[in-house]
Amino acid sequence: MRAAYISEFGGNEKVTLGELPEPEPGPGEVRLAVKAGALNHLDIWVRKGRPGLELKKPHVLGSDASGIVDKAGAGVTSVKPGDEVVVNPGVSCMACEFCLRGDQSECPSFKLLGFQLEGMYAEKVLVPACNLAPKPPHLSWEEAAALNLAHLTAWRMLFTRARFKAGETVLIHGIGGGVALAALQIVTMFGGRAVVTSSSDEKLARAKALGAAHGINYRTSADPGAEAKAWSGGRGVDLCVDTAGAATVPVSFAALRRGGRIVTCGVTSGPKAEVNLQMLYWNHIGFLGSTMGSHEDFRSMLAAVTHAKLKPVMDRVYPLAEAAQALARMEAGAQFGKIALTV
Ligand SMILES: [Zn+2]
Repeated sequence: MRAAYISEFGGNEKVTLGELPEPEPGPGEVRLAVKAGALNHLDIWVRKGRPGLELKKPHVLGSDASGIVDKAGAGVTSVKPGDEVVVNPGVSCMACEFCLRGDQSECPSFKLLGFQLEGMYAEKVLVPACNLAPKPPHLSWEEAAALNLAHLTAWRMLFTRARFKAGETVLIHGIGGGVALAALQIVTMFGGRAVVTSSSDEKLARAKALGAAHGINYRTSADPGAEAKAWSGGRGVDLCVDTAGAATVPVSFAALRRGGRIVTCGVTSGPKAEVNLQMLYWNHIGFLGSTMGSHEDFRSMLAAVTHAKLKPVMDRVYPLAEAAQALARMEAGAQFGKIALTV
């Protein structure tokens, strides 16, 4: 079977399209005939490698997939061959206290498909049966693949972690990325108002067409945090959704109301930021981390998306053979929405 994989860490030149043996599902596992995959920034972190990350090579890239159940391993009863499904990329032990109470992404042995585990950019892949959910019928295979990681992450950030409510104002940094756009769609769908930032006026205009109430160009704005606060009538926004890290934490603090929350899931601009703890406690700021989501988060997100017939914002679709070109587009930050691979 064909797969896009790396045999050593490095740049896009290390991404190989080649033949790998078809995997056999073990107990509780399903072999999926992948129809489409979708890219995430995580793919680039994995491809580059980082200290402490040891992977069995060749390592198939990719966390997002949609497909058809091809073969079910022993004991699998939740799905059968022929079922059209999407994949929750977070794999947990399903036996510890955190898994048993439904917080699978807090499991001490939590791992991600495509990161610590074999990925999805292949014709056939193995997935734990409990990580599969029915594909929303209104979505194409590519749209369904694009939904999983980004919308799941945004869903848990907003609802499970930050307790987002209708009527709240939300600052979303770096609109154009998958999680940021998913957050914009969910906030808008559930009656919130979003102010978004970007270095591109074109991306800001497109975000407004998707429902953003205001756009701030952080390159040309004198003070993006003050501008967001002014947009909220001087009160300050209720919530900041951050995927960028170092560059945006000070902006969030400047934009928030007293009692506001920051929820973060990424560090595309760097992992270290200075936080004034006096500002944090005096202003009752909640600073929350979030990674992926639980099976309940995944099913709640899919139910909402299916009910509203919401579609993820798609940037471009490439064939599997052009996985390296697709990664290059994402690495350059040129995309607006999700980049998908047709398998
Ligand atoms: Zn566990």
